[in-house]
Order: sequence, then C-alpha cells, then structure tokens
Amino acid sequence: MTEPFLARVARIKETLAARSAGAFLTANPRNFHYLCGFTGSSGALLIRANDAALFTDGRYACQAREEVRGARVILHRHGVLPAVGEWLRRRGERRVLFEAAALSVAERAALGKACGPRVRLVPSTGVVEQLRAVKDAEEVAAIRASARLASDVFEELLPLIRPGIREHELAAELEYRLRRRGSSGTPFDTIVAFGERTALPHARPSSRALRKNELVMLDWGAILRHYCSDLTRTVFAGRAPARIRRTYVAVLEAQQAALRVARPGLAAQQVDAAARNSLRSAGLARYFLHGTGHGIGLEIHEAPRVGRGQKDSLRAGHVITIEPGVYLEGLGGIRIEDDVQITEQGAEVLTTAPRGLLEL
Ligand code: ZN
Ligand code: ZN
Repeated sequence: MTEPFLARVARIKETLAARSAGAFLTANPRNFHYLCGFTGSSGALLIRANDAALFTDGRYACQAREEVRGARVILHRHGVLPAVGEWLRRRGERRVLFEAAALSVAERAALGKACGPRVRLVPSTGVVEQLRAVKDAEEVAAIRASARLASDVFEELLPLIRPGIREHELAAELEYRLRRRGSSGTPFDTIVAFGERTALPHARPSSRALRKNELVMLDWGAILRHYCSDLTRTVFAGRAPARIRRTYVAVLEAQQAALRVARPGLAAQQVDAAARNSLRSAGLARYFLHGTGHGIGLEIHEAPRVGRGQKDSLRAGHVITIEPGVYLEGLGGIRIEDDVQITEQGAEVLTTAPRGLLEL
C-alpha cells in the first residue's frame, strides 16, 4: 500500500476510544509525518474520531497541500499551539491526549491557556512510537536502501584510512560520500576515533592524526527516504597484535550469538543476554558498557530498546541494531554494529559492509 496513513490514523482512533478521549494531538514532526505524510519541521496534527487537521504556518502551505493525506490543512498566523487550543475550545472538546515528550513546559502552558478551563489535557507517552516500531514493507525497503548506501560508503572510504589523516578529515570524507550518494544528511554525529580514543564509545572526531598500527572506529549512518541506518566498523591500520585479534573475534562472536537468537516472540533482553553471555565466556563482559542495540526508523534511536531489563518481545517488522562493543582503557575499543530486520522466521541483516577484521 503506497498510502498507509489511513490505517495508522485508524489505530490512533482506537486509542482515543480506549482512553475515552475526544482528540489526540502530536507536535512531534516524526510522528505527524508518520500519521499524515507531512515532512515539514513545524506543525501539529490533531486527530478526532471523525476528522483530522494538520496545523502549520504559511511557509509550508504548498508543501502541506502536496504531502498531507487524510487530514485538512489549517494555516495559522500566531503560533501553532494557540491555534490548536482555540480550535479545540471552539469545538467544545473535553478530553485531549497530547504527547508529553513533544511539548515543553512553556508550550504545554500556552496550549492550556488557549484551550481554556473546560478542555482537559491528558499526557500520553509512546502511542505513535509503538506503532512506528513495527515497520511495513515500504519502510523496511527504505531502511534496507539506507543501510546499503552507508555500507557502500565504507568500502569507498577504506583507501583513505592511512597514517597522517585526522579524525575530523576522515569524518568529513565519510559524510561527503554519504551526501554524494544521496543521503539527506547524517542521522547522528559521525563517530571517527583512532588508537586509544576508540575506548570512548561516543568519541567526537578530533584533530588526532592516525599513526601506523592503531585501531580505527567508525560509527555512521545514512538517511534515505527519511529512514535511518546505523553501523559501526572497527579496522586496524597495520597488522593487528594477537590481543586485538582475539578481542575482535570475541566481539564478532557476541554479535553473531545475538543475531542467532533474535526472532519474533523473544524478549529483547534475551538478545542482549546472548551477546553479554558470549563476551562473559571470553572474560570481556565487564568491558561491554552499553546495551546491545536499539530500534531504527524515522529516528536513529527508537523502540524497541535491546538491553538489560527490556522485557517487551521482538515482533516481525521491528528493525534493530545489534552492536556489542568492548572498551579497554588505554588500549582501545572494538564495536561491530549492523542493522537487522526481525522477520517471521528470525532475523535478516540489512547492512552489507564486510564484518571480519580488516587490516589496512
Ligand atoms: Zn551506531
Ligand atoms: Zn546504534
């Protein structure tokens, strides 16, 4: 189906009925994009049992008319939330669900003021995010294309990984190649780290120059048709010593262990446990400093989380990262991250960059 918006809005209406609310309001651009197709960065979507309206301003008039499906477009002049509030008040709406995570305290106050005392604003969390977690075929195709694009760039980048190049230079080369191949920006700040700096899981590219016989960690992603990819590769500039090789193999085995168990119906924490137990048997579990993965989609971090204590089950249509890592202070870090679609049968890897230890 090319226009899945009606089905998504129908699910929101079910929530309205279940929670005895007259309207659902989202001011989160990712969420209104998902529900009505509008890709502008400012607006609000109001869904009621029998109608829906997207509020935005004159800058987006043409774009909204072209993109929005299943909702009327209302252009406001003096602020989106005052316009929404006024509209709700005029229609005598009594109980309105809004997304607690999408409004600041000041915005909530502005909305409340415009609604007047008779409208009850009820905070909600995760309503759209839970729907977004399960991707349809078109969404998976977009993520697959995004993962492929990011993977292709890695192979283009390998010849540039030479002693003397600086972290920020390599990051710029990577991002330039993503853009050239059609990525609309980067979904997060690209990570490039050399040597001992690879022990920082979220290193920011610095002016540090690469020396011979050092680890190189790259964590990057593409955005294609609004969908993100996210992958990490760790390579060695030179011939890797035995300890680095052993550690690399242990991280790769942990990743494969997680991949082998990932399937619908399994609690997300079990995928994390598979990676963690594998590293434990190699004596490395205490150096694994983060969760095993996270959902990706319109955003780089979304449901489901794949970490300790995450009891929610995986479902077919989830797309997650699997990214175990080991960080040894003073020596360096190794992380391997791939994007994985949960299918009816199990799991399918969407990223195609080579996974074995590359010695350059
Ligand atoms: Zn990443
Ligand atoms: Zn990630």
